[in-house]
Amino acid sequence: MENSGLTTNINELDGVGPKRLSALNNLGIFNVGDLLEYFPFRYDDMQTRIPSTTKDGEKVTFSGIVSSEPVLTRFGYKKTRLNFNVLIGHENIKVTFFNQPWLQKEIKREDPIAVYGVYDANRASLAGIKVLTTQVDGLNGIYPTSKAIKAKTIQDLIEQAFAKYSDQITNLIPAIIQTKYRLVDRRTMIHDMHFPQSSMAVSKAKRTAAFEEFFIFQVNLQLIKLTKTKKNGRIINYDNLAVKDFIAKLPFELTTAQKKVVNEIAYDLKRPIHMNRLLQGDVGSGKTVVAVIEAYATITANMQVAIMAPTEILAQQHAKSFGNFFAKSNDIRVELLTSATKTKERRQILADLLTGEIDVIIGTHALIQNDIEFHNLGLAIIDEQHRFGVKQRAILREKGMNPDILAMTATPIPRTLAITAYGEMDVSLIDELPAGRQPIKTKWLKNEDFEQAIEFMRTQINKGAQAYIVAPLIEESENLDVQNATAIYENLNAYLAPKIKVGLLHGRMKNSEKEHVMAEFKANMFQVLVATTVIEVGVDVPNATVMLILDADRFGLAQLHQLRGRVGRGAKQSYTLLLADPKSQYGKQRMAIMTETTNGFVLAQKDLELRGQGDILGNKQSGIPDFRIGDPIADLKMMEIAQQEAIQLIDTPNWDSVKSNQALVQYLSERMARYRNLD
Ligand code: ADP
Ligand code: MG
Repeated sequence: MENSGLTTNINELDGVGPKRLSALNNLGIFNVGDLLEYFPFRYDDMQTRIPSTTKDGEKVTFSGIVSSEPVLTRFGYKKTRLNFNVLIGHENIKVTFFNQPWLQKEIKREDPIAVYGVYDANRASLAGIKVLTTQVDGLNGIYPTSKAIKAKTIQDLIEQAFAKYSDQITNLIPAIIQTKYRLVDRRTMIHDMHFPQSSMAVSKAKRTAAFEEFFIFQVNLQLIKLTKTKKNGRIINYDNLAVKDFIAKLPFELTTAQKKVVNEIAYDLKRPIHMNRLLQGDVGSGKTVVAVIEAYATITANMQVAIMAPTEILAQQHAKSFGNFFAKSNDIRVELLTSATKTKERRQILADLLTGEIDVIIGTHALIQNDIEFHNLGLAIIDEQHRFGVKQRAILREKGMNPDILAMTATPIPRTLAITAYGEMDVSLIDELPAGRQPIKTKWLKNEDFEQAIEFMRTQINKGAQAYIVAPLIEESENLDVQNATAIYENLNAYLAPKIKVGLLHGRMKNSEKEHVMAEFKANMFQVLVATTVIEVGVDVPNATVMLILDADRFGLAQLHQLRGRVGRGAKQSYTLLLADPKSQYGKQRMAIMTETTNGFVLAQKDLELRGQGDILGNKQSGIPDFRIGDPIADLKMMEIAQQEAIQLIDTPNWDSVKSNQALVQYLSERMARYRNLD
């Protein structure tokens, strides 16, 4: 490998002796490249000032005209002093730069200049720290340092390194990607991170630096994944035209985001790798239909699909909607398998799975029983994957012939983030809701406003809507939950009769009963469904537009978000009413946040902030590597783009030509060790 100047040990720089060397090493700086990537953590604004209003000892920026020929004096061993005068308005000051002899070339009499330094008012002189070449709006990078080394020393070394080696900086991000995302080239990025001319330059540079960091990280991940998964890889060679036709005949047009993820997943199916992909999308964003399309694709390749859902209700609902979506495809057979499936029927299903007569099997945990074998399982879909343990997912993965895995979730962070970072899964993101959806209006009421809430519900129902009422969560016992829900059901039933009918759903009901209740609710045979949190995930009844949650402060933000996600699933305006008298500050904040945003990512972010980042990300087990510029939470979308680009890069026949990008290859091989958990 070619030895570029950036791998030069920092002890080759002027002014780095053994002491500074070890101080720098302790900061993770070993070579010139490390030093150039040692970026400021913030920038101080240095407004241009005039000498007469500047106090003695202040750090300031003056801008004026060089009014004398610069004179360089050498003294001692390798020490220099550069002197010149600067005229600022009609005030003249003397400027001295120590040990930056290269500045002599840059400074010419009569040129405009801006200099930053420490002002000595008594002598009207400035001990120069930095020359700012053009008029600046005054940004000075502030560097993290340690006791053993001063920030000024680091800054000086960076200037020296940049002056000597910047011509060796080459791009790591391929030119096409740089252009596509309007990034700056690497040399400009490094320059502007350290010596920005404007805050605009800083933000551009930061954006590029963050992208580069994510991109390198993802290229690493993908390379590792490639070597890990190549062996088991299989191609699901689906029928392109048939899939296109299927999509065209859907009852609605896919959103742009849905189209994008459909393509990402389909692309993976055809690759000779073992797909392990997470489909992330807020509640109501339409993940199911994406799963349906990928299932269809798999079936056209003569392979089977298994879909695992966390609850019976959800499995039943999926069985119905998959059945509906496939209604026109006569030869596709969909079956439901749960713990409620009768023995005889179960035996038949198992037999037909083995012969391949069943194309799609939908179920709960029942799907991962030992005796279940497939004829040719191509794709396994896990809905609401956060509800399953790693172990259960692993079992499904090992079923049959190591199927491609598509996991779906509405939980944005932190688990998902950990997954991204672990590299266990690739992520596809649906970042928009279907058109015509109106944001759900959320109101926080006091418990004593119960009647008012019910009356509101009544008016909505009179307009044709349906409503959920979630009974308070009684953590101590499911029995109490059920009693409570039953009592609410009975009272309301009496109160709203005869015009409005009420139904009841809870965890103690038999599966057939639950199924019956959900079917009736979906058919609008009753208008109000009183339920425990069994309806938390996945339930889809678009005509239901009111969600009333009792004692809402007993639920966490994620759970409230999931519950609220049961409404707002159609074109009609939906409402969520939270009844709660929280006592703690945290409880009050949770209620308030729920009324402020319906965006799951924002909520998750707020949740993080409220609970304290340390809680979730501080523990090193989370496996999230330390990123220096990019913030994998705030910039999740950028991370995702970086990942797509990394996959493209590695997958193209151009990978060989990429490998000739010495800079990237060298960088990768050097930096692999930086990220934990990668091998
Ligand atoms: P989730 O992502 O929460 O699982 P679903 O897949 O259940 O969401 O979809 C929510 C609702 O939106 C469903 O009724 C579904 O039929 C509908 N839907 C999905 N995609 C679209 C679309 N592109 N246009 C209109 N409605 C859609
Ligand atoms: Mg869903």
